[in-house]
Amino acid sequence: MKNPIDNYWKLKLESVKENLENNKFEVFIADTAESAKQIALNRIIPELDIKSVSWGGSMSFIGTGLFHALNADKNLEVLNTFDRSLSPDQMFELRQKSLLVDLFITGTNAITQAGHLVNLDMVGNRVAAIMWGPKNVLLIVGRNKLCGDLEDAMFRIKNYAAPVNTMNLDKKTPCSKIGVCHDCSSPDRICNYWTITEKCFLKGRIKIILVNEDLGF
Ligand code: SF4
Repeated sequence: MKNPIDNYWKLKLESVKENLENNKFEVFIADTAESAKQIALNRIIPELDIKSVSWGGSMSFIGTGLFHALNADKNLEVLNTFDRSLSPDQMFELRQKSLLVDLFITGTNAITQAGHLVNLDMVGNRVAAIMWGPKNVLLIVGRNKLCGDLEDAMFRIKNYAAPVNTMNLDKKTPCSKIGVCHDCSSPDRICNYWTITEKCFLKGRIKIILVNEDLGF
């Protein structure tokens, strides 16, 4: 067999897709990050008739190139919460407004085999938008985010995703220095809000592109 690893993950993604759909998420599978971008631009977004878009911290979203495509779209009101030139007050206001957009795009820290989303947030705006507010939510999810059960998902997040994220963001936390969580009380602590999304309400409001590549942390 050619590409046994990709084939293995394809089977895993198809199985999780079925469980996610049973949980009322709308799900697509992409072979690559580039094809995830094309699915978003050519199949998902044209169906939504969106006028405004925003996003929450997600290296998976950045990895598809979708961020640059949407940021350059003059027909869209873009609320760019990645704009590091904003003051803390401006960023707070933008994050509040981003809860009212037509489409919010981000990733998820983990998906269980049962088709549940597991996330851990620093600020909370990302998980808030996934749960309620924006009319539509699009999640870009690499195959590396698939976990067995809730315990596996939480272990992955606290022992891998969070430490790597602190390193990426140059946070001054114990885990950014030694790679292990110390359940810190640092002002830079990024582990504040756990969420488990078992089902999607309303049906199809949250769309998920599962990508057969590693994406994000
Ligand atoms: S609680 Fe603190 S030390 Fe632990 S992973 Fe989160 S930021 Fe790092």
